[in-house]
Amino acid sequence: MTGTVYLVGAGPGAPDLLTLRAAKLLERADIVFHDALVHADTLALAARAVKIAVGKRCGRQSTAQKFINKRLVDAATAYDIVVRLKGGDPMLFGRAHEEIAALELASVRYEVVPGVTAALAAAAEIGTSLTQRGAVRSVTFATPRVGEGEGTNNWSNSIAVADAGAIYMGAGQATSIARELIDAGMPASLPVAIVENASLPDVRVIYTTLAALPAIGNAGIAGPALIFIGKQFSARAAAASQAGLSIARAPARRRG
Ligand code: SAH
Repeated sequence: MTGTVYLVGAGPGAPDLLTLRAAKLLERADIVFHDALVHADTLALAARAVKIAVGKRCGRQSTAQKFINKRLVDAATAYDIVVRLKGGDPMLFGRAHEEIAALELASVRYEVVPGVTAALAAAAEIGTSLTQRGAVRSVTFATPRVGEGEGTNNWSNSIAVADAGAIYMGAGQATSIARELIDAGMPASLPVAIVENASLPDVRVIYTTLAALPAIGNAGIAGPALIFIGKQFSARAAAASQAGLSIARAPARRRG
């Protein structure tokens, strides 16, 4: 066993949101196993590496996680620097624990390099702080998604007991998300902000309310999207509604 496996966060999409540590590792990498959402310019940094797509996108063909785990362990016997490049941060909704468990079982050295997670890129995009002194002191990062063979998921209760929520992998389930959060006791009038393709040129922001959230099914969201719920989004949601921009296209903040 010679190599080290680096679980590296690629950030939310924009190649220049990669950490310097990640960029340096990619330059030195011998082999890179990457997610589907990783930007081509980010992959290009790994100029000398063998690149293998093992990405998962909702509803599309994916490489089974067990197989990815095995490939990481095998790669460490053949290469010095093995990079597992994951969207956002590896430690949030990235199945890092399964890869780490497999690496530990096989006594493979590993390190984790953090990345900018989607919720933080989405908050930046809409210029709204996820916490607000005196008003929003807790934010739940949650997903309604339940994998095969998994137990029950208390995601809606954990958002309801916090001051705000950031929902990953939820855009395709808007109707059940709205229903479950209202059932969990959240007001139907609570503002919702949906940020699609955060950090990328085709970013789109949609403001709505919990009650009207099911209508985003008609918004044609095709890219990765983050759903925020909380009262800190009310000012921008009201402005978008006044401008007739709720549910439809609302301009994201432009980057200079
Ligand atoms: N580990 C990743 C999350 C993987 S789960 C992270 O830390 O960001 C994939 C989900 O992340 C998507 O379904 C979507 O909810 C969110 N996501 C990823 N990239 C995004 C982007 N550029 N804009 C908005 N949401 C994004």
